[in-house]
Amino acid sequence: MLRARRFILPVVLLFNLLAAVQSGSASPQPAQSSATSAPGQSFDIKAAVDAYLAKMPPPQRARSDAYFEGGYWLMLWDFLMAVFVLWLMLHFRWSARMRNLAERITRFKPIQTVLYWVQFILVFSILTFPLGMYEGYFREHKYGLLNQNFGQWMRDQVVALAVVLVLGAILMVPLFGLVRRLGKNWWVWGAVLMIVFAAFVSLIAPVYIAPLFNQYKKLEDARIKDPILQMARANGIPAHDVYEFDASRQSNRVSANVSGFAGTMRISLNDNLLKRCTLPEIETTMGHEMGHYVLNHEYKGLVITGVILVIGFAFVNWGISYALTRWGAAWDVRGITDVTVLPLATILFYFYFFITTPINNTVERTMEYEADMYGLNAAQQPDGEANVDMLLGEYRKLDPGPAEEFIFFDHPSGRTRITAAMRWKAEHPESASAEEMTRKIF
Ligand SMILES: [Zn+2]
Repeated sequence: MLRARRFILPVVLLFNLLAAVQSGSASPQPAQSSATSAPGQSFDIKAAVDAYLAKMPPPQRARSDAYFEGGYWLMLWDFLMAVFVLWLMLHFRWSARMRNLAERITRFKPIQTVLYWVQFILVFSILTFPLGMYEGYFREHKYGLLNQNFGQWMRDQVVALAVVLVLGAILMVPLFGLVRRLGKNWWVWGAVLMIVFAAFVSLIAPVYIAPLFNQYKKLEDARIKDPILQMARANGIPAHDVYEFDASRQSNRVSANVSGFAGTMRISLNDNLLKRCTLPEIETTMGHEMGHYVLNHEYKGLVITGVILVIGFAFVNWGISYALTRWGAAWDVRGITDVTVLPLATILFYFYFFITTPINNTVERTMEYEADMYGLNAAQQPDGEANVDMLLGEYRKLDPGPAEEFIFFDHPSGRTRITAAMRWKAEHPESASAEEMTRKIF
């Protein structure tokens, strides 16, 4: 999958990197069809979809729904908790004290920004940690989705925090430099800077960040590798290697992803996919990932993110002016060029992304659907696609209502994906696989 979200909140979502890390999000795959009758004129697409959906036993289905629906509320609690903590920093002038300490240590502005950032992110992380621990550790265990003990999980959290510390400092220094130079006109160039930063993070991620959490190695098994590379060549992808990584360290979730940017772009699949899936299922998954690559989703995502960011920064700029005229003195924030403004800017930015969640999800979900279409045509394994879609149903609600899917889903739901696969299969009866249809996947 493509993690569009990764672009979206360079600042706010830096905090959520922690959550992304422990949920080990990667992209889902397509699954196989279920109809027992031969496809063709009489092929009943809906019946075929329902047969696939019925593969998951009802208790497991209920658990998956409860897990995913609980996530809707967690989005709200995460937002409210972050806003509360950030407001505390302003109201009790902790933010001003962090700035004062930084100013006592050095007169050099960029170093002051770094010193402020370190204090800010540590306080924020510590105060939001209890909710993060419930969400990322206890709740994941409750639903059987985490393979780590507390020490292993905590280790990943600390590493993620270190990454956020370093990357955040790399972003904050030029960002506040821009604000000091341009004043209230910072927001357009701020958005440009953010895009450059997102591309930079994307570029270094496969080489310097991902290996901090998982071991990556070249896929050696010729029975898997050869058909994948064959498909890559057929689709004009100059790949010589496919990577596999040990996602089973964190969970049993099946996934694959395209990561990197320009020269570091690569396709990786996780060991759970290799262990739990058949070759047709792996092929259709890889077809989906190749779709992201060939359709240039990474670059298109950056452009769309740029538009979303410009609007968001304009809003943040307006909100800062509005709030500072009222509470600036009480919070001891000297103005927009003062780093002390960061908690306020973060509240506004987070609010913007919170209310535009359905838009951001739809942008991402639309690209995922495109990749599904691509994968179906590249791999020609609609039944394998349906089976993989079902496996993704372990952590994503399979059959939501249309409004629910529009608002909350950053990938198409199981029903949507399997319907696409069965529709494709109805027009390609020769692609039907009895083996995939009858395969027990749960
Ligand atoms: Zn995808």
